[in-house]
Amino acid sequence: MYNRIMLPLELPIENLPRISKYFVSRFKKMGVKTIRALLYHFPTRYDDFSEICEIANLVPSQTATIQGKVKTIKTRQAWKRRRMQITEAKVRDGTGEIEIIWFNQSYVANQLKPETPVSISGKISQSGEKLQLKNPTFEILHDWKHETTHTGKLVAKYPETQGMTSKGIRHFMDLALRQMPKIEEPLPNAILRKLEFQNIQEALCQIHQPDTIEDANQAQKRFSFEDLFYLQVFNLKEKQKLKEEKASEIPIDIEKIKSLLQTLPFELTTSQKAALWEIVQDLGRPHPMNRLLQGDVGSGKTIVVALAALLAAEEGYQVAFMAPTEILARQHFETMKKFFPETEEGLALLTASEAKIYYGERLEYITKKPELKKQIEKGEIKIIFGTHALIQKDVSFRNLALVVVDEQHRFGVRQRAELIKKYSENLQMYKLTNLSTIPHFLSMSATPIPRTLSLTLWGDLDLSLIHELPKDRQPITTKVMPPNKRGDAYSFIRAHIKEGRQAFVVCPRIKQSEDTRPEQNEGHPYVWKSDFQTLEVKSVIEEHEKLSKKVFPDLKVAMLHGKMKPKEKEEVMRNFKDGKSDVLVSTSVIEVGVDVPNATIMLIESADRFGLAQLYQFRGRVGRGAHKSYCLLLTESSSKSTAMRLQVIEKAKNGMELAEYDLKTRGPGEFLGEVQTGMPDLAMKALKNPDLVKDARYMAKELLEKDPELENHPLLVEHLKTFQSRIHWE
Ligand code: ADP
Ligand code: MG
Repeated sequence: MYNRIMLPLELPIENLPRISKYFVSRFKKMGVKTIRALLYHFPTRYDDFSEICEIANLVPSQTATIQGKVKTIKTRQAWKRRRMQITEAKVRDGTGEIEIIWFNQSYVANQLKPETPVSISGKISQSGEKLQLKNPTFEILHDWKHETTHTGKLVAKYPETQGMTSKGIRHFMDLALRQMPKIEEPLPNAILRKLEFQNIQEALCQIHQPDTIEDANQAQKRFSFEDLFYLQVFNLKEKQKLKEEKASEIPIDIEKIKSLLQTLPFELTTSQKAALWEIVQDLGRPHPMNRLLQGDVGSGKTIVVALAALLAAEEGYQVAFMAPTEILARQHFETMKKFFPETEEGLALLTASEAKIYYGERLEYITKKPELKKQIEKGEIKIIFGTHALIQKDVSFRNLALVVVDEQHRFGVRQRAELIKKYSENLQMYKLTNLSTIPHFLSMSATPIPRTLSLTLWGDLDLSLIHELPKDRQPITTKVMPPNKRGDAYSFIRAHIKEGRQAFVVCPRIKQSEDTRPEQNEGHPYVWKSDFQTLEVKSVIEEHEKLSKKVFPDLKVAMLHGKMKPKEKEEVMRNFKDGKSDVLVSTSVIEVGVDVPNATIMLIESADRFGLAQLYQFRGRVGRGAHKSYCLLLTESSSKSTAMRLQVIEKAKNGMELAEYDLKTRGPGEFLGEVQTGMPDLAMKALKNPDLVKDARYMAKELLEKDPELENHPLLVEHLKTFQSRIHWE
């Protein structure tokens, strides 16, 4: 048999015994380049062929293995379908004989000759009186005690891609396992014992060639755990590091908070108050805050953060407030002015297209960027609103103490950490802060992320939740409409506009001719790939033309999309906000954050084109004031899955419900958007196994309490590094 020559794990796959160039290239296509990668190419399921039966005892629809000798075998052309080749064999053991058929696998007849001893596994079927095996897996038995690889046991099934079958993978896997060197165990022994996991070597064997299905499951669990555990250790260490950093202590003046709250036109909801309290308490600590403010669309996150920003500003510190789009950055700037018109702290707006300064009601002006930057550098401007270019440009701060990122999910999951890091590095490089402090960090998101998932992805990120809407809100009525009801939708819009309200019309594209990808500059991945060749996809330019000339010639219909100049966009947005236009036809630019409380109808064209989370965001653009609001979903698609998906949004009461549905049906990759590699996989594991996440968290905590620097676990440190680069953003 084989001599046990070890194959070091990092050896290229070419070193497997007798592997042909063809298979090397197949493996490389699959991303399997080394022995290690091969061993870590895990099966997705198992066929249980462990029951070895005598032919006389077989029953229909049983999955079984028979072992015997080939009696006859021949291949013929199917007489009806000329392209099909049928290989028929008869195999017998001491008890009887059975017919076996392979379709389009004529090579079988070259391998199996009469009298060849063979082991065959598959599902028994019945054809008339006779029992049959169709397309079974087989292997030649060199002697009767020969250990089988593909039959007669639990057999691993791999994802079959790039012209490599499970059988092929099993063959090479077997070689690799037989020549596997000793692998050092990265997980602490105590954990293996506590969770009854196999050691790494054993687990690799069991995941590919399990003795029992329990062994296979336990091996899978071990590997899932490993990843979740590394992520938890990694997150905890990040948190630990942050605790060792210094940040500005911003004193909390309760009287000041109270008097600011007095000036607002509404009372904060209970959870807004609670969130504000959590944030200002964090700001008062000497270590950087790292907090996510999560709240459903329209729950009023902005005012909470604006208050915190103002408190910091009044203590003399600077705040950077970043939004994913210019429209949104401008809106936040305007909100701040609206709620706190008398503030004496300098406010500014800095985006690619404009620079504006505001020092109280009497002093607002447009300026040049260098001038604005100078004022920021001198510390005269306290709160700066902008897109995330704010931190990449050469903007220098005097004493930046708080960084806010709105709609943080748009920036990608891991980017948050990257932002902090880059930020503090920049600051230190330019010697812009009192060197040793780094800013507090607050992110905001309306994407409701189920708890297990957020724990997995972000570990101990602090979380503030706004889980109620302001009291004056009425629930939004959502309706899916077929195309023949479009006329009704228009009459409905007209009636509401007569009463003084406004409406949005959202289309997936800008122009009819362009491809279906949404606007790149808004950074949204295209999600729905199905049936786009055949269906008409509505576009902003055409719809605007139609609505303004034919449907609502007497109303003011405006248009907004990402290819317009920033100046034009701003004007359109401002006019709509001021009620100077009645209908706004737009692409997904308005998806995020835009706040026009007087708009009560959201009509979405080609709704099947958008992901659920996106539709949910669109819907959140209405229902922001005291008026009853409506969301109308138009679709030309008649497919069942589309109907089902849209029904979910019709019924879902809150974002969390939708998020869970979205996750289940589309998986975390789609749901989380621009997630980095490695993450969806981990997220999937977490979703399937919340208990494992709990264990991983617990064990990671325990380990770090005992050994904060992991001095006694050098191998774990090594593994963390590889793991980190896998999920990293570099
Ligand atoms: P989001 O959380 O989606 O970012 P916004 O911060 O844009 O929501 O708030 C939505 C709207 O609700 C804004 O017009 C805001 O002024 C208003 N708002 C915020 N808090 C309250 C409140 N407590 N009562 C009434 N209206 C509020
Ligand atoms: Mg918002």
